[in-house]
Amino acid sequence: MGLKHSTATAASPDANDREWKFSELIAELTVRGRLERVRRYFFLRESTYDMTCRCNIRCEGCYYFEGEKQHAAEARDPAAWRDLMRAERERGITYVVLAGAEPSLVPDLLAVCFEEMPLGAIATNGIQRIPDSAGYKIHISVWGSEETSLRIRKARDMLARQIENYQGDPRAVFVYTFTPHNIAEAGGVAEALARRGCRLTFNMFSAPVGYTGTLRHTPQSLSCTRRAMLDLLGRYPETVLYSPYNAVAHTHRLGLNDLFGCSYPRCNPSTDIGLGRSFRQYRTDLSWRREAACCVPDTDCPDCRHYAAGSAVVTARLFRHACDPDRFCSWLDYVDTYLAVWVMGYAKGINLCHAPVPPPGFDL
Ligand code: SF4
Ligand code: SF4
Repeated sequence: MGLKHSTATAASPDANDREWKFSELIAELTVRGRLERVRRYFFLRESTYDMTCRCNIRCEGCYYFEGEKQHAAEARDPAAWRDLMRAERERGITYVVLAGAEPSLVPDLLAVCFEEMPLGAIATNGIQRIPDSAGYKIHISVWGSEETSLRIRKARDMLARQIENYQGDPRAVFVYTFTPHNIAEAGGVAEALARRGCRLTFNMFSAPVGYTGTLRHTPQSLSCTRRAMLDLLGRYPETVLYSPYNAVAHTHRLGLNDLFGCSYPRCNPSTDIGLGRSFRQYRTDLSWRREAACCVPDTDCPDCRHYAAGSAVVTARLFRHACDPDRFCSWLDYVDTYLAVWVMGYAKGINLCHAPVPPPGFDL
């Protein structure tokens, strides 16, 4: 399905080159309806929490085991987490991202968090199933074929075990992280997930600060990854939670900060509005530091194309995208994707803009 006004193509990105009023951009019922639907979630205010500094595997390039946070003590008392969640609610946090190292190792703490804060997501490697007592979205990381996982993550039959644990679970979204070396493997993974009725979205390897390994993307791997994403989105529309604009934003030669301006405190220590004011990244000892706060700490900002970063950085840029119908629809598709990936019960709509359009102010 395409919108009547949707005129942009990859070859002529600025076919809508005139001044548009906002009322014109939302004149079509489908567009207005989509804006109203995503708008209901504008109340979400996130923070992130390292639940444990232990992990049952050790992956090459893991950002958790970079920097200081891996050495923090662990708060293992559920009562301390309950108090923290209540305090977070008090200061306006409505959405929690529970992450690493590996949160499935502390299921009692996840359950306590869910009792106090019912909206959120857990980032897991999926080897150990998280009990239903944590009714959050569960993001299961996939880094390539079984052979690649064995090599980089040192874990055997990883995808098979992940599927076994989460097939048919409405919480589960598999997150395929593209590196320069696993682009061709994504098709096999998507096919396996589609066959088992699982949902899939995409992430980009974003190098930790000081990383010198071979997983850092190159201009060529970025463009191959974009083609693979668009191809898989077309081939498995029921499985893949993504949009053409997601592919553009996350495979551009410039990272998310250069394209959209990241407002996490770590990038903008002086910002005292919105995300810059409310966002905190807690370590396992329940401490937090403003200067280190972002959803993927210790990632190298110029190389940041991480899906978790985009959910805040791109979705926050409504007005920047209100410049022409295709960019506005593309932004709506991005937000729609974000909600389908991150919020329980939100079903992905049909993408409104089918052509990749460039981010405002940039080329493709
Ligand atoms: S599973 Fe996650 S936390 Fe554990 S080593 Fe791998 S990337 Fe790091
Ligand atoms: S790593 Fe990404 S999300 Fe974090 S501060 Fe840098 S640009 Fe922002």
